[in-house]
Amino acid sequence: MIQVLRDRLKGLKVFSRGIHPPHRKKYSESLPIRAYIPKGELMIPMVQHIGAPCEPVVKAREEVVFGQKIADVGAPVSAPIHATVSGKIGVGTVCLLPSGRRVPALPLKPAESEALPANVLEDFLDRDWDGVDPAGYDPEAIVQTVREAGVVGQGGATFPTHFKLRRNPKTPIDTVILNGCECEPYLTADHRLMVEAPEPIVIGLQLAVRACGAERGIIAIEENKPDAIEAMRKAIAGRPELDVVVCATQYPMGGERQLIAAVLGREVPSAPLGLPLHVRVVVVNVATAHSIARGVVKGKPFTHRVVSVTGGGVVEPGNWLVPVGTMFSELIAACGGVKPDVVKVLAGGPMMGPTVPHLDVPVTKGVGGITIMTEAETAHWQESPCMRCGRCVSNCPLYLSTTKIAHAVMHRDYELAEKYHMSACCECGCCSYVCPAGIPLAQYIRAGKNQVRMIAAQKKAQDKKAG
Ligand code: SF4
Ligand code: SF4
Repeated sequence: MIQVLRDRLKGLKVFSRGIHPPHRKKYSESLPIRAYIPKGELMIPMVQHIGAPCEPVVKAREEVVFGQKIADVGAPVSAPIHATVSGKIGVGTVCLLPSGRRVPALPLKPAESEALPANVLEDFLDRDWDGVDPAGYDPEAIVQTVREAGVVGQGGATFPTHFKLRRNPKTPIDTVILNGCECEPYLTADHRLMVEAPEPIVIGLQLAVRACGAERGIIAIEENKPDAIEAMRKAIAGRPELDVVVCATQYPMGGERQLIAAVLGREVPSAPLGLPLHVRVVVVNVATAHSIARGVVKGKPFTHRVVSVTGGGVVEPGNWLVPVGTMFSELIAACGGVKPDVVKVLAGGPMMGPTVPHLDVPVTKGVGGITIMTEAETAHWQESPCMRCGRCVSNCPLYLSTTKIAHAVMHRDYELAEKYHMSACCECGCCSYVCPAGIPLAQYIRAGKNQVRMIAAQKKAQDKKAG
């Protein structure tokens, strides 16, 4: 609370509640992005976005070229998948996602020569966008091209971006907010992209504004990234419809609801039915905006993303431009491997990133970081009975009755948990972080949500069987 008042006095954008964990960005925040050229076989999961899974449009043993579409599906909420290197498609299989979920996948063996263009990094970080006029693009064509380029939200949600950008007269949009907060501790991929390639991010924002018929675009960045703030301010010069705002370093500032509340003072109606578009806003991640510009202006599909490999447990942290499908094990080996006192490897940051089941999992479109933590960096709490201090409730950014939901889940009373709005929980982890009794509230709630999803899927399957 005191920190929020201090930030408000400094003129920073803040939202109510939330927490202020240590940033721990020092490992990789100043390291330039490097290209990673995969050596071994890649694994391309058919599930890389929220919505309908893709199906292969290529055959086993087919030779494919870099950027060729290899999987797609006709559903509206979906995005195609492209070959992230030139090479040979293997026999369809099943792979583990970093979350531990098993999904269909296509192996892709890189070609022995020219699997990737030699200038892949220069091309990705290309800063020469002079003369590009986003106003000259047809809004419908932008949406269609963004879909064909396979662009999905890169802040972790992996929602197909074209679906967000479609115009709907019933829900007009006035503002697009670019999320450059990267509020998860440790992660620095978005930060580096803003510093090293601000121009395409700005073009992507202008295209998003045009596609959804908004009047303005705002780039929101946390104050702990002064070089990114400066780079983005320079890049928007001469564009009066764009602005850069500085947000407090507050977690989860990158959550859509918290960001909209902080930047515009608008409250998005309760989840799961309330959405940013109900307050005339679309939120897009900065890396997603970069992909929009590349897809629409340069015709380049989503094949690569920037991934931070960071934490006290990795020998040589870095920010890497990685082809989707590269195995964690390979990328970590390129960083010199892990130190002996490593206790866990996370896909993402420590607040929301799942602990990976093992290192033979692929980088997907939604993975912005691999955090490798040592014993010393990990909090060890002996779980003890709730002392009714109320911290979990007073720090929940969504004003949920965290203890009541967790209790209901512990007693497997999912109906009661839903009455307390369990499905509105964004799994930010603030409640677990502040609990002095070491109760993993967010983990209980996540487990409860998974159970409810499973029960619903089983019921659907039974109903289908029954005719
Ligand atoms: S994990 Fe859910 S219940 Fe816990 S603080 Fe975040 S939104 Fe609230
Ligand atoms: S923070 Fe922990 S100890 Fe305090 S009320 Fe919540 S569950 Fe109980």
